[in-house]
Amino acid sequence: MKKCYAQVIVDIEAEELDRPFTYRIPEEMREDCVPGCSVRIPFGRNNREIQGYVIGLSDESTLPEEKIKNLLAVTAGGETAEGRLVQLAAWMSRRYGSTMIRAMKTVLPLRKKVGAVTERTVSLTDPAGAASLAETFEKKHFVAKARIVRALESGPKDMRALEKEAHVSASVIRALAGEGIVKISVTEILRRVTEEAEMCPPDVLTDSQAEVCEAIRREWGDSCESRGRALRRPVLLQGITGSGKTVVYTELIADALERGEQAIVLIPEIALTWQTVLRFVRRFGDRVSFLHSRLSGGERYDQMKAARSGDVSVMVGPRSALFTPFPKLGLIVIDEEHEESYHSELMPRYYAAEVAVKRGEIEGARVLFGSATPSVRSAYQVKTGDFLGVSLSSRFGGRSLPQTSIADMRSEMKNGNRSILSDILREKMESHLAGGGQVMLFLNRRGYAGAVTCRSCGYVVKCPHCDVSLTRHSNGMLICHYCGYETPELKSCPECGSKHISGITVGTQQVEEIVGKAFPAARILRMDLDTTRGKEGHSRILKSFADGEADILIGTQMIVKGHDFPRVTLVGVLLADLSLNESDYRSGERTYQLIAQAVGRAGRGERPGEAVIQTYSPEHYAVTAGAAQDYEAFFREEIAFRKLMQYPPAGGLLAIMGSSPDEELLDTGMQYIRRYIGRIDPEGKLMAIGPAPASVGKVRDQYRKVIYVRNTRKEQLIRAKDMIEEYIALNRGFDEIHIMFDFQ
Ligand code: ADP
Ligand code: ZN
Ligand code: ZN
Repeated sequence: MKKCYAQVIVDIEAEELDRPFTYRIPEEMREDCVPGCSVRIPFGRNNREIQGYVIGLSDESTLPEEKIKNLLAVTAGGETAEGRLVQLAAWMSRRYGSTMIRAMKTVLPLRKKVGAVTERTVSLTDPAGAASLAETFEKKHFVAKARIVRALESGPKDMRALEKEAHVSASVIRALAGEGIVKISVTEILRRVTEEAEMCPPDVLTDSQAEVCEAIRREWGDSCESRGRALRRPVLLQGITGSGKTVVYTELIADALERGEQAIVLIPEIALTWQTVLRFVRRFGDRVSFLHSRLSGGERYDQMKAARSGDVSVMVGPRSALFTPFPKLGLIVIDEEHEESYHSELMPRYYAAEVAVKRGEIEGARVLFGSATPSVRSAYQVKTGDFLGVSLSSRFGGRSLPQTSIADMRSEMKNGNRSILSDILREKMESHLAGGGQVMLFLNRRGYAGAVTCRSCGYVVKCPHCDVSLTRHSNGMLICHYCGYETPELKSCPECGSKHISGITVGTQQVEEIVGKAFPAARILRMDLDTTRGKEGHSRILKSFADGEADILIGTQMIVKGHDFPRVTLVGVLLADLSLNESDYRSGERTYQLIAQAVGRAGRGERPGEAVIQTYSPEHYAVTAGAAQDYEAFFREEIAFRKLMQYPPAGGLLAIMGSSPDEELLDTGMQYIRRYIGRIDPEGKLMAIGPAPASVGKVRDQYRKVIYVRNTRKEQLIRAKDMIEEYIALNRGFDEIHIMFDFQ
């Protein structure tokens, strides 16, 4: 039966989102009235006719009948940027199983946004007059103000750093801003970048870059006159590191601007440096703006407003920039599309690449993905013909890829070398350092929490049912996160009998000690979560390494991302296969990506590079293909494995994640869901497993459990999700349990 009432919101910019108004849907409009559509409604005491958006439907209302007004009309809703974003929200709420309100809060630029972290920069309005101003303050015994001015004499400072340095509170700084003596801003930095950056003429494309651009334009029909808003296939640009993907993006952005359209460029937060933004500013000047997670809600809103009004035409930013409300969006670029930061951890747990394709559909915009190591799901879509695949296979300037050697750590152990450095890596470090090159050592920490391996033979303790590694829990049990299988900790290796079987506990700090002993003359920098507290630490370390202030940089995955160090000639990947041990079907994919990206760091300058991959699994395809940067070889093996196991993208996977402070209640609830799945799916087509403890079984006193449901057809999973959602809504027993759905 069609529902008779619609919940309508009118001001989609405000917090009012939470308080929708109820309207009656006239019989003839019930067919068209769906969540996300826009409607004309009579509003207020004199029934002014305005536009609203439907966020939900219902059969009954608690309001007295005579108080409810009728909808005037249902309109398509796609005329405005907001209307199209509401449509996107409706799709997201359905696709990812969240409420419409939450989906709208994710996609719409709300005037007030809670929880955003601010980082502001303070500068003097008149730097030249600083000294005399400070003296004046000192004479008047305005010591705090004097200290602020003194601290800013050397240049603008981060607000919080300034508070510390000058021992003042934010209110004193704000007071000075009120007097016009200092300026507090974030966008200030951007303006400076724009002013200082000289606009540069476009790069002359290499032949292969030009070919790629032409192939993409042909696909999108941009070279001929067909400029309708037809559906266009998304394009995956696979280009090895340094091949000039950014140059291709820039060309296509220029096309969009020429058509009078706007473009969004998504870049993973970690690679979103001034360097990166500058490359777009140099080409497009002040038509470029950018977002980052440290903008406050208000600043973010201002950026969105500028986009909405056409003041800017190119928005560069992390995941959330995807929702920039451009009036005529022409192109969405997702750089490093394989990055995990494109998966949202918050409800709706959306995947930016997928949402980008949907937004492209709604807006009639083109979508371009780029990566040196594409995600298996995108590469699979090229194979199925849903995406067009194009590639750049050589580095700009004819630079060669590094020569790579693989060190088998099992034989190192047999030969009596128990160090974290293999003989070959040590030798190469000596010769590269002697030759004046820099060395990067990359410690793959992924998967090292909890995985149990044998140090002698490399054996990894796996689940007998699931082909994923078991994880050690503090209660001394080894547990499978997929099926819940449990077994006590092992005393010796079932493969070789060695007693050296344990969780791996090498950290960057230990590596630093070991390397320091082996190379006492070398200057070493370490970069990990401990040394990079605050964004400043991060860029300070990278800068000092780039400036040649150190010979060796040791770090976790954060050092393999997006930075160009022309003097690095040798990259060592310590324990390359650790990420293979993760209890996740994507562990091979991550391992390939980490290795290929790390290897790609070497030899980006004049001198050719080398790489050494240390591993316990020298024969694993993710390791051999990663070392050779041979994506095709990796993909062939990986997709065969996914098909065999019916893992995504060959099959769909729905994770039903429950959390509750009450473990027993959670377990009961999850068992009920499992049984309910059995009822709606008596033939077992949904292949449900669990409930099992989530990969982190308890967070802040919330217990977490998960049920996985697999099926080759995504629609089946969406249907199952809908039914489970209804089941949960109808049962009071779930009131104390928080359930989230995650599609993969
Ligand atoms: P990717 O994004 O694929 O890693 P980049 O776009 O960063 O590659 O290009 C690598 C380097 O080569 C950059 O310093 C870039 O400026 C330079 N480069 C690439 N193509 C050209 C070109 N056609 N003309 C001039 N410089 C180029
Ligand atoms: Zn062993
Ligand atoms: Zn298992």
